[in-house]
Amino acid sequence: MLKLDFHPSGRHFLQIPGPSPVPDRILRAMSLPTIDHRGPEFGALGREVLDKIRTVFKTQQPVVIYPASGTGAWEAALVNTLSAGDRVLMFETGHFASLWEKMARRLGLEPEFLGLPGYEGWRRGVQAEMIERRLKEDSSHTIKAVCVVHNETSTGVTSDIAAVRRAIDAARHPALLLVDTISGLACADYQHDAWGVDVTISGSQKGLMLPPGISFNAVSEKAIEASRSARLPKSFWAWDEILELNRSGYWPYTPNTNLLYGLNEALDMLLGEGLDHVFARHQRWAAGVRTAVESWGLEVQCQDPSVYSPVLTGVVMPEGVDADEVRSLIYRRFDLSLGTGLGKAKGKMFRIGHLGDCNDLTLIATLGGCEAGLKMSGVSLAGSGVLAALEYFAANPLDER
Ligand SMILES: *Cc1c(COP(=O)(O)O)cnc(C)c1O
Repeated sequence: MLKLDFHPSGRHFLQIPGPSPVPDRILRAMSLPTIDHRGPEFGALGREVLDKIRTVFKTQQPVVIYPASGTGAWEAALVNTLSAGDRVLMFETGHFASLWEKMARRLGLEPEFLGLPGYEGWRRGVQAEMIERRLKEDSSHTIKAVCVVHNETSTGVTSDIAAVRRAIDAARHPALLLVDTISGLACADYQHDAWGVDVTISGSQKGLMLPPGISFNAVSEKAIEASRSARLPKSFWAWDEILELNRSGYWPYTPNTNLLYGLNEALDMLLGEGLDHVFARHQRWAAGVRTAVESWGLEVQCQDPSVYSPVLTGVVMPEGVDADEVRSLIYRRFDLSLGTGLGKAKGKMFRIGHLGDCNDLTLIATLGGCEAGLKMSGVSLAGSGVLAALEYFAANPLDER
């Protein structure tokens, strides 16, 4: 029986791929008093975060911030740019792509869900040539948007967004490009402007190291143009009034003040470190974790090394082992939370998050919990992943001090 008043000693290991651990510095920033959201201090805060957040999306264009989880920003992207019955081309990379497709149907759009057969698509990224082929067939341009997930959090597979852009251009198709980088932003390189993305969707609780509760739409000129004639009902999500008031640092409704303090702090941390360094440390952690999985003699969920996720790693269980049982044993014995297998991956694998406020030793501890838990679950391991990862980290320093 779980006792809610029980507090285990030491820090909990929150190694799910979002929410990620929130640095103390951000928690402290968020503990400031809530201020008048129409007052002068608020306007200064609003202008500052709205300006700085654009650097993380690598855009000169506006970024809309919603007091909502990532799912809200998904909906905002669709309702601002599309009309009932519009055809949208989506790609099945995993559970999150599937949820977005379901949302599109519920909103009255007509999604066409491309994908590799069976479970194959859950182990590889977006196949841009399939998008190109489909768009070339659509000579009357009935497809209004292409929607893809940049970092598929259910599997640990990224997708090449620049390749999707090239596919749309090669087909000379006017469809908008909508990209979910809810878990990719501030972990993996992302270039809203250079990749010609029309709406980029993101959230607070993954690479941005914030608690859940705010989410984003980075928009292009073309997306704003589309929003003027898009007919899906929208009010709370509508960009026009938000963009208008954002000019002076305010919102049409009460924004999430304390999360914006946290966002300001997170942006100072990320930009102070330098985005390239942030991306490099995520790549390095991911490589260390994959080295551990290999040493255990287990498979990584992603089967295409060119798109391994720097954010998380899916660890596939041998036949007959229920990943959720292993996960729950690890949680009970070691106070370590790992990501569950979602949708088609349920029970087949668990996910190790290595994003945001981690370091080599928190990951070694995480791998230690996994290794012990796997052994206790009767999984026979080829060798020690912990030792392999330690050696990898020692041999591949990111910074020499
Ligand atoms: C977390 C996540 C979502 C859902 O975001 P919520 O904040 O849970 O609404 C959607 N897509 C991806 C890729 C995610 O990682």
